[in-house]
Amino acid sequence: MTYPATTGEFSGAPGPDPHHERSAVIDLDAIRHNVRRLAAAASPAKVMAVVKADAYGHGAVPVARAAIEAGASWLGVAHISEALALRAAGIDAPLLAWLHTVDSNFGAAVAAGVDIGCSGWELDRIVAAAREQERPARVHLKVDTGLGRNGATLDTWDQLVGEAMDYQDQGLLRVVGIFSHLAVADEPDRPETDQQLAAFREALAVAEDAGVDPEVRHLANTPATLSRPDTHFDLVRAGLGIYGLSPFEGQTSAELGLRPAMTFRTRVSQCKEVPDGQGVSYGLRYHTTGRSTLALIPVGYADGIPRIATGGPVRVAGHTYPVVGRIAMDQMVIDLGDTGPAGAALLGAEAVLFGSGDDGGPTADDWARAAGTINYEIVTRISPRVPRRFINEQDTSGGRHAAALQTGGAA
Ligand SMILES: *Cc1c(COP(=O)(O)O)cnc(C)c1O
Repeated sequence: MTYPATTGEFSGAPGPDPHHERSAVIDLDAIRHNVRRLAAAASPAKVMAVVKADAYGHGAVPVARAAIEAGASWLGVAHISEALALRAAGIDAPLLAWLHTVDSNFGAAVAAGVDIGCSGWELDRIVAAAREQERPARVHLKVDTGLGRNGATLDTWDQLVGEAMDYQDQGLLRVVGIFSHLAVADEPDRPETDQQLAAFREALAVAEDAGVDPEVRHLANTPATLSRPDTHFDLVRAGLGIYGLSPFEGQTSAELGLRPAMTFRTRVSQCKEVPDGQGVSYGLRYHTTGRSTLALIPVGYADGIPRIATGGPVRVAGHTYPVVGRIAMDQMVIDLGDTGPAGAALLGAEAVLFGSGDDGGPTADDWARAAGTINYEIVTRISPRVPRRFINEQDTSGGRHAAALQTGGAA
């Protein structure tokens, strides 16, 4: 599918192209910019670009490629199946998958050179897969330093490390990494991050005593990358930040030097004048308060917009209007007010739910507030009915070194 370059932003002439109906436009230049910003913050630690959940809804393969171009040296996903999809697309960067079930295909991971996170029970299955594939598995041992999800408890840690080292001595695996995950790094004032950091150091000491010599020790997510250099170790695992979103309540993307990469846009699909008191959408929870023009926006919860987010902003022709009435499966309504006949002219106008936020336009943060959730969820839940369109696929920065110099002094 081809598009009229990237000029005129998203306002190409309406046509039969389904991307014109609704699309999530992913700016790969923004992804590269954000990776460089995070790499500068993390340096000398390296960056793992976390591209799980289809790159938080942005499209895993193009994002992974752009992230690597911009200097990410690792990729991270939750599931082995996600890692295999990246390998199938020809991406051969170091790649870690950390969340498994008893049905996960460890054999395929070993065969594809995918690094496997291991919290305990997986170890025997990983070793069985390595025997079957006649190839040592690459393993990152995970310790639970306080989050209470996966990872070995500190009580079982030395046993896990000991067993892994026995297998390493037998040539069945290599302990490539030691890692853990933070619980409250998005709230920098809380004390638990210090406690988790201390527990991680303790776990590292246990591992070193047992002879582990990992290539990478990693703990930090996006908020810790930006606010806690003492958590960086050898590698940071950054997800949200590479999409240009802020993990901190009360700090915007722009304040962090990040550029939101996803613009969710569509076109006004109907405009009509209605009388005072017109009810709007299921349940008739909203009524106009005077003659008004209602504009129909053809996206709804089937496209991933939370039904609860009434009041969320939609930008049309330079103005931002709140959604009125209930959000339905396929559509929502904005009230343009008493525009007279001018309102009718907005049929087909671009309607932006969220984007870069430049020029005061709406953001994923605004929708997160409207829905009582976080920006992570807003972008990640945009559904497959919404075509992804990638812009700025070519990296024109002149390469990594130049880019690092340009962004080295970023705030
Ligand atoms: C999702 C995830 C990350 C990325 O977190 P962000 O806050 O998006 O940077 C890092 N590590 C693990 C284990 C994760 O599950």
